[in-house]
Amino acid sequence: MNYKASDHIQDLQYFGEFGGVNPSISDSSTYTFLSAKTMFDTFEGNTEGCYLYSRHSSPSNLYLGEAMAQLEGTESANVYASGMGAISAVILQLCDAGDHIVCSRTIYGGTYAFLKNFVKKFNISVAFVDITDLKAVRESINPRTRMIYCEAVSNPLLEIADIPSLSKIAQKNLIAMVVDNTFSPLNINAAQIGADVVIHSLTKFINGTSDCVAGAVCGTSNFCLSLKDVNSGAGMLLGSTLDSLRAASILKNMRTLHIRIKKHSENAHYLAEQFEKDGLRVVYPGLKSHPQHELMKQIMNPEFGFGGMLTLDVGTLEKANALMELMQKEKLGYLAVSLGFYKTLFSAPGTSTSSEIPEEEQKELGLSQGLIRFSIGLDNDIHKTYLAMRNCMEQLEILTSDSTLV
Ligand SMILES: *Cc1c(COP(=O)(O)O)cnc(C)c1O
Repeated sequence: MNYKASDHIQDLQYFGEFGGVNPSISDSSTYTFLSAKTMFDTFEGNTEGCYLYSRHSSPSNLYLGEAMAQLEGTESANVYASGMGAISAVILQLCDAGDHIVCSRTIYGGTYAFLKNFVKKFNISVAFVDITDLKAVRESINPRTRMIYCEAVSNPLLEIADIPSLSKIAQKNLIAMVVDNTFSPLNINAAQIGADVVIHSLTKFINGTSDCVAGAVCGTSNFCLSLKDVNSGAGMLLGSTLDSLRAASILKNMRTLHIRIKKHSENAHYLAEQFEKDGLRVVYPGLKSHPQHELMKQIMNPEFGFGGMLTLDVGTLEKANALMELMQKEKLGYLAVSLGFYKTLFSAPGTSTSSEIPEEEQKELGLSQGLIRFSIGLDNDIHKTYLAMRNCMEQLEILTSDSTLV
């Protein structure tokens, strides 16, 4: 892995109208043409250097798109009004009625609901498989399969997808390898190890300030253009366009992504190691006990660590809820969904972000009701945070004071 995403992002420079160090924000929904002929050509798809209407593209969205393309090292990238806007556009662009998708069974709840309930409208069928079982993936592919869909680091169980092997399977079957890399920007460069299309919810780590929703699709120029096609592009026609003001603000936040990811990873790694020593049931890709720890080491950018997400299973929902409420009271973080904020965020996925998955299926996946998902914040003194979290767990008798699991 020697793609230097953060350097490529850093080298992207745009100046504002008056020589500003940030690009000007395009504050227009529509654009004038000097000649009617140019307008016609633009509608015909010859959009080079021309802006038409902001649902199609705008300078601010193109700047953010270029930064996203640099993040993954793809030819191009489009931005959307949300991660789900990006995901739904990609799936509906790649599939016709009657097609089939092979999908990881542990994915974001919204994506799961879209694939389980919504795409039926188009007679698209989905096989949900254990993505770590390559044989199961291979055997689920049929002549109508159009893509393998997974998350690089899965939500909420933090399984690592073997993207190099999965992409070989996809290539052999002439289908697309689509990867949602929301949990691991910079940690994993999914396109560099075989993904054809990489999706991000910018709402999370990439924006990092929990003040907006946005998404992106990174891929070939052809694919990104096809999504924007005025006659047949799912991005253009479903209309989940990101606002220019917001695109500009996300691009500015992306300027510090490399620093934030390093700190999120460092803090999460420290807590995971301490919790494991305490005998707690912690899952973190940086721990040797993680089933795909070796795989993660092979595919990651070591500079950015193993990511900012960890899970802790405290046994029951009651204990999980009590612990989250107490940690919030102690100012250790917020009981909130989402991730990538400066402050630690925690939630019990079984009853929140993964509640779209029926309880029985949750059990099958290993998603226990006592599971807490943590997005670890940018705390300056993580040891102090650890001691305070430990204190909460002792108060609730999740841990005893001699550091053993009750
Ligand atoms: C949040 C999230 C999404 C959806 O993104 P939105 O911006 O909320 O639409 C998709 N995938 C993953 C892994 C996520 O965490």
